[in-house]
Amino acid sequence: MPQIAKLETFTNEFVCFVRVTDDTGAVGWGQTSTYHADITALIFHRLVAPHVLGQADDDILALVQRVEEKEHKFPGSHRCRALAGLDTALWDLHGKRAGKPVCALIGGTPGTVRAYASSMKRDITPEDEAARFVRLRDEKGFTAFKWRVGAECGHDIDEWPGRTEAVIPVVARALGDGIDKLVDGNSGFGVARAIEVGRMLEAEGIGHFEEPTPYWEMDQTKAVTEALSLDVTGGEQDCDLNVWRRMIEMRAVDVVQPDVMYMGGLAKTLQVADMAAQAGLPCTPHAANLGLVTMCTMHLLRAIPNAGKYLELSIEGPDYYPWQEGLFLGDPHHVEGGHVTVTDAPGWGVEINPAWLERASYQVSQRS
Ligand SMILES: [Mg+2]
Repeated sequence: MPQIAKLETFTNEFVCFVRVTDDTGAVGWGQTSTYHADITALIFHRLVAPHVLGQADDDILALVQRVEEKEHKFPGSHRCRALAGLDTALWDLHGKRAGKPVCALIGGTPGTVRAYASSMKRDITPEDEAARFVRLRDEKGFTAFKWRVGAECGHDIDEWPGRTEAVIPVVARALGDGIDKLVDGNSGFGVARAIEVGRMLEAEGIGHFEEPTPYWEMDQTKAVTEALSLDVTGGEQDCDLNVWRRMIEMRAVDVVQPDVMYMGGLAKTLQVADMAAQAGLPCTPHAANLGLVTMCTMHLLRAIPNAGKYLELSIEGPDYYPWQEGLFLGDPHHVEGGHVTVTDAPGWGVEINPAWLERASYQVSQRS
């Protein structure tokens, strides 16, 4: 049984790649969650690496749980963000050993995944948002789009007065029939305003209302879900399985949206997806940038029985996400007819750009 011999991080402020090497010299590549990634790298070497070096690597979930128990005084998001680096590197290693893509290790197959074009912008006018969506619909064949209403944690105060009332019909009508339409409130509204906005969405044929109210107030989310007929969705920030259990049992949302990286990796995300499947709920994960999270989500959606209708695919470029440029060789998120493709390449099937790694800060933990 191979054991974990070395764990290396390559990081800047936004992205931290992890390389795991086993005692036979085989390697796998993963990534911690994005943002403050330099802090996450430090946590990785202090809270994660010491507990798994020298351990057999066959049971990824057991290793994640081992770290959670060894560091049970630190149950927060940063521990999960760091664990995602371990988990995703090990899945890549397992795939490369087996000569199979990760999706095949979890019961799926390579192939295409329908994507929805996901806007991250609120400082964009309704007309400009509509114009770029129509261009993407016609040029790349997207059949689903998500845009933003309200303001992040906005307490009913809009990005600018009247934006929500304008952006809903302007974008929906520009896209026209036969397109799935989604909006995201990012915890922006109280219950009464969320229901009012939800009725506007329903009138324009929008079927997905994400995070209408503060996500940590699950009773509020549930009240909105019960009042509206469209799908209320959420969960992107949540990484605690007990929170997920409660959210699913109380039917706070109609669709669960775990983020593979915020969750602490694929193994824990599969647990959430399974909990949702048993409750009859679809899983449409959160994947808001073109770091490794989107590729991990593509593999997940090719495997789980309750995969939602589409993959979240960010449409933002260098003006919004300058840090995501040049992470990978080639174009792993290439869109054809509104779909991306999971290939049969082993592991995650991506190659990290050596020039990016060259510029990153390096740290190593290994068996002494
Ligand atoms: Mg969201």
